[in-house]
This record gives sequence, C-alpha cells and structure tokens, in this order.
Amino acid sequence: MPAKTAIQLSHETLTLHLREPFRISRGVQTIARPVIATVTHAGETGWGEAAPSTFYGESGDTVRSLLDTLAGQLGNDPFNFQAIVERLDATVQRNAAAKAAIECALHDLAGKRLGVPVHRLLGLDATRTPLTSFTIGIDEPEVMARKARDAHAYPVLKVKVGTEADEERLAAVRDARPDAIIRVDANAAWLPRHALASIQRIEQFGIQFVEQPLRLLDPEDWRWLRSRSPLPIFADESCVNAHDVHRLAGCVDGVVVKLAKVGGLRAAIAQILAAHLHGMEVMLGCMIESAVGITAAAHLSPLVEYADLDGNLLVSDDPFEGVTVDKGKLVLPDQPGLGVRRIGAAGEQTIAGTASTLGATP
Ligand code: MG
Repeated sequence: MPAKTAIQLSHETLTLHLREPFRISRGVQTIARPVIATVTHAGETGWGEAAPSTFYGESGDTVRSLLDTLAGQLGNDPFNFQAIVERLDATVQRNAAAKAAIECALHDLAGKRLGVPVHRLLGLDATRTPLTSFTIGIDEPEVMARKARDAHAYPVLKVKVGTEADEERLAAVRDARPDAIIRVDANAAWLPRHALASIQRIEQFGIQFVEQPLRLLDPEDWRWLRSRSPLPIFADESCVNAHDVHRLAGCVDGVVVKLAKVGGLRAAIAQILAAHLHGMEVMLGCMIESAVGITAAAHLSPLVEYADLDGNLLVSDDPFEGVTVDKGKLVLPDQPGLGVRRIGAAGEQTIAGTASTLGATP
C-alpha cells in the first residue's frame, strides 16, 4: 500500500448547454459551467463535481481558486475522509460546492480501490432508490404542456412556479399529464400572505408539495405558512445544512438536500438524518450539472423519500454518464466508486495549484 504518496488534485471546467432555456422565478439559464475535481492517488483516480451557485456565494472562479489553494493539502491517505474534511473546513467556511467536489472524488477513488460502488461503501440498498422528478421550467403554458407530454417517461413532474400566471401554467401541465404526480417549486418567490393565497389557488391541480414558497425569512414565517397551508411545505434555499434543519424544526414538512449546498456526501447524510430525527421528509435535489454530481447524489437516494435528480437530463452535451432512470426510478451503477464514465470530450483542464488565481479569495 503506497501510503506515503500524496493525493494529487486537478480540475476541469465543463460547459453544459441546456436543451431549452431553463427559467425559474428569479432568472433564466442557458448554460452551466460546473467544475470537475479529479483526485489521483497511487494510480487510481476519483471524480467529484462542484456546481457553484452565486445564490450561495460561489462561482466557477471561487471553486477553481479554492481547489488551487487546497492542492497539496489533502495528505497521503485518501481513506481519511474525516481529517480531509476537517482540513477543508478549517481552511475556509462555506464554499460547499467546491468542498463537495473534493469529498465526492475521494469517495469515488475509495470505492474504486475497494472494488465497491459508493452506495455499498455507505451501506445502502440500491433497490430502495426513489423516483426522480423531471423539472418543467417556467414558460408559456402551451410550451410547458408540450414539455410535460415529452416527459411521459417520468411519473413525477416538478413544475417551477412563482409568477402571476401559475394557475394557467399548472392547468396546462395538469391537462397534458392527468396521471402525473406534480410538485411545485417557487424558488423563494413569495412573502407569507402572498404564498398562502398562491398555494390556495393552485391546490386544485393536485399538488404533492410546495418547495421554497418563501423568501429567506425567519422560521416563524414558515411556521405561520405551514399551519395554514393546505399543501405540505418543503424548504430548499432556506435549508442549507443540518444546522438549518434544527432551525426549521416544526416549521416545514420537509427539506431539500443538495451536495452543492451542504458540502459533500458525509454532510448530506448528517442533514438527512437530522431531518428524519425531526420528523421531516427529505428530497435530494441538484443543480444543472453533469452525471458526476447527479450520480454522487443518487448513491445517497436510498436514504430519502423523494428525489429531484434530473440536472444532467436537462443538458444536451453531458460528457459523463452514470446513474440512469427507468420509468422514473433511479438505477444506481454497480461499478466501483461512483460508477461514472466519460463519453465525451474533456473541458478546460488545470492541474490544481498551478493556475494563476490572481489572488482571488474564496
Ligand atoms: Mg428548489
């Protein structure tokens, strides 16, 4: 066992093109530029993905800068997740997407070294994966109806809301897919009374739950809404980590856990267990990202009630493949590690620590 070999780190920036412009209540997106971290140790490599969001204070530049800063500081034992994660957290606060890239890459490498898939490494049962939803962004009602029909392979749809015409849009989607389970996501669009009125208007369309109806408000605002809402309430943007789960206990029915918000698989498990401890349900979510990040999250999905892991399905040029979907159900790879393989061209590659980072501070 070549234990004295230092862990190497490099990164590449992908450019992913959305199949169609993706609109939510606070903006529209046509490309995504996630960063793939590659760790190498004793001839084995592991991949992890950072899908940074400016909403949480990260960008491609902050991710690349932090990976450059951390290169050479990962030690020589890729199985010592605890020490490495502590070192990442001691170096910089937050920056969860960048940390998730490194931590997931270490899990990929460890799984490959041991010859087991990541879900087996974590003791999880691959047959217990949930259905994933397929997301319909905000658009003209007839366009949303067409997208809903095109997504006939997915029994669960997640529809973005938070506009003045939500009823018209949801009516079109419901008409297109009478049998679908439909959940909605307002992406922090509303204040409490507006949220309640909106939820009361859309309840008629048979909605499973409402994700992030409120702006980043106090837990008591969430409690006020939950106690009056006819539909279950889930927090996403307001619930970044396990600490937020405790803050929101009793104020929401469920939370959305994302690797890019919480910082990796271990922190995601902590957040999931905290939510279950408080009687909340959990949905695993994602950003617009490649199969590297989506597959990493999917390996945790046997732990949760719901999944919204479709970020890679919304892009036309993902250079990776991993987890697949069968009639909506996530099918985990059974190859060692994440079980992700490259099927397309590499992005812009850099050996971490060698790029000029212009003194950028994450
Ligand atoms: Mg959301």
